[in-house]
Amino acid sequence: MPEPRLLIDQDLHAGAEIALDEAQARHVGTVLRLDVGGHLRPFNARDGEWRARVTVREKRAMRVVLEAQLRQAQPSPDLDLLFAPVKRHATDLIVEKATELGARRIKPVVTRRTIAETVRVDRLESIAREAAEQTERFDAPEIFEATPLPKALDGWDASRPLIYADEAGDEADKAWGGAAGRARPIAEALQPLSPSLKGEEKLALLIGPEGGFTPEERRMLRALPYVVPVSLGPRILRAETAVIAALSVIQSVWGDWREA
Ligand code: SAM
Repeated sequence: MPEPRLLIDQDLHAGAEIALDEAQARHVGTVLRLDVGGHLRPFNARDGEWRARVTVREKRAMRVVLEAQLRQAQPSPDLDLLFAPVKRHATDLIVEKATELGARRIKPVVTRRTIAETVRVDRLESIAREAAEQTERFDAPEIFEATPLPKALDGWDASRPLIYADEAGDEADKAWGGAAGRARPIAEALQPLSPSLKGEEKLALLIGPEGGFTPEERRMLRALPYVVPVSLGPRILRAETAVIAALSVIQSVWGDWREA
């Protein structure tokens, strides 16, 4: 069993002695059952990952001393996920899987048919931290407050293409499929975009709510120069499936799954 990882915001350097906060001390002491002399792997996106030894363990406190750096921090691709919050369990799943799949920022957006107008950012942040520790990444994705879609697009950085998973056809008023054809398959639509080279390139993905986007939203999105409508195949995917599928294709074709 590899030594447990712990995302720690304090500076990490050789010989540093770190006092864990109460929640971390409880997690390491009670959940991970580490005692004095036990080892863990503190990490963060600035200082990479270190091997540390527990030096003090009390009921609500724990101190560790850093022994050696294990890995330099690697940036994840500059990849944002915009998604319309769905039922709580599915939203939790979206945050956990988007963390494992390397999203750097997770931005809940409220659309006309979105069922949840807000999200519990603190709750989603702890899901993201735990997933970041498990998935061996160096940072936890930044979680944003839920924002109306038009506001989230306001002042958009046009150098960041927005991959818009469009389940309907090119005719905004038609339901699924439309007569005028569909959006381009996602892998094909990604080809012309210059791939992420260690995070220099930027990309974003937009996934809609259970009820899909309205014709007005589709028209608004398709009129934006930086929006790239894509199809995720011939079947309707649940929002959480669409997030996982689309991020997997993006990482394969554009992102860091291309690295050996
Ligand atoms: N409009 C869909 C329907 O008729 O049931 C419901 C939306 S779907 C459950 C949730 C979101 O996942 C969509 O808004 C879209 O962003 C994405 N999605 C699901 N299946 C897709 C597909 N085949 N192609 C593109 N996007 C898809």
